[in-house]
Amino acid sequence: MSTNFGATLRRRVTLPVAFGLVGDKRFALLNDVLARDAWSPAQVRKHQAERLSHLFRICRDHNPYWSARFDAFGVNPNGSDPFAELAKLPILTKDEMRENWKQMRSTHLSASDMVHETSSGSTGMQINFFQSNYYRQLHAAMEYRSRAWMGVQPGEPYLSIQAHGAHMTRKTKLLRNARKWMENGFILDAFHIDPTVVRAQLEAARRINPVHVHGYTTSCVTVAEIARDAGLTDWPSVRAVSTTSEQQTEEHRKILGETFGANVYDRYGSREVLSISMQCAQGKHHIYEDVNIIEFAPLSEVGDNLSAIIATPLDNEAMPLFRYRSGDEAAAIDGACTCGRTLRLMTGCRGRICNNFITPDGRIINGTYFLYYFYYQEGFKSYQFHQTTEDHIDLYVVPDGTLSQERHDYLKQCCQKIRDDSDGQFEVKLHLVDEIPKRKGGKHLYTISDVLRHL
Ligand SMILES: [Zn+2]
Repeated sequence: MSTNFGATLRRRVTLPVAFGLVGDKRFALLNDVLARDAWSPAQVRKHQAERLSHLFRICRDHNPYWSARFDAFGVNPNGSDPFAELAKLPILTKDEMRENWKQMRSTHLSASDMVHETSSGSTGMQINFFQSNYYRQLHAAMEYRSRAWMGVQPGEPYLSIQAHGAHMTRKTKLLRNARKWMENGFILDAFHIDPTVVRAQLEAARRINPVHVHGYTTSCVTVAEIARDAGLTDWPSVRAVSTTSEQQTEEHRKILGETFGANVYDRYGSREVLSISMQCAQGKHHIYEDVNIIEFAPLSEVGDNLSAIIATPLDNEAMPLFRYRSGDEAAAIDGACTCGRTLRLMTGCRGRICNNFITPDGRIINGTYFLYYFYYQEGFKSYQFHQTTEDHIDLYVVPDGTLSQERHDYLKQCCQKIRDDSDGQFEVKLHLVDEIPKRKGGKHLYTISDVLRHL
């Protein structure tokens, strides 16, 4: 079977049928979101107004938290100008979300219609939230839309550098492997990059002729550096490299572009607000305004000519967020893009930076590995992992109120698990503190390694 025929079969038959069988609408939604690329600004605005009015009405009828907020701030869910109604609401902070997330869940969807998620964001405060299955499927379609911007179709072979081992249940791993097989992908585990075996892994990856390389920014760069040092810079099949989850710098773009010989793209979204912007082939970041209303608030503490990103996602009925401050920063850019898309432009984003950690025997672990220990956990306000020497990590935790014995035991188990995962190479010391100092510019770093490869 030729590569092209196999990819077409996967795109047109295997993947739509497989996702359709489990009730996942991503392929049905893909055609909808792809068509939106041709929308005029007026069409986008009309769609935003309709979605926003719909969300207001959902909240009035099924969301006690928001209906009380509407009363408090004089928001009329049936107002003729929904944008003016939205502007009456104050910016929603992470602190507010942390305190109210259980009440912010809409009552018209059942637990099986939504998922519970956790985010660490970039400002140091862990938050919980709910997303409807529809919202997540829509954004799976948005991911395919982003790939279409890079000239990549669903079902074409890829090399993915992502979490693939630690923290995964057997069921998740099984499903992931099934998906990898269906999509013809190759996965490198971002939580366990062993330079002594990466070369062989990359040679195996090259045999599937990947057209797309994607993953966490620092992990992709690490793998690119290893590939370059090993002389593996011949990737004729690769059309695009894209990174996500972490800030992408010019230096990152350069090494990724040179190593894989392809255009490099930056996708931006957060765990709580999916699909916020995508870079086109002209290097401009377009805002996905058909799924979010994005504002830029020039808050004094942000500085550096950047503004706080304020997002109103338009499709998550499970837990609507209005004027939510994501914690990341960028600025709007005036003018049009030569790619022909009319979606507004913004700068690249200043957001999360996850340091890589290195074990004494040289394995590289993306800092996201450590964040997972705090996902879905309550009882902690903030935390930070700090690798001070090759074999020592300090874990600082700010408890949310009084720390129960059960929560204290959980933290001790985390320390033990990290030791076990690293085959005893890391010693982890727990410190319970009242506060974790912010870095320059007010950012919180969840992971810092003084044995640093990338920042
Ligand atoms: Zn463009």
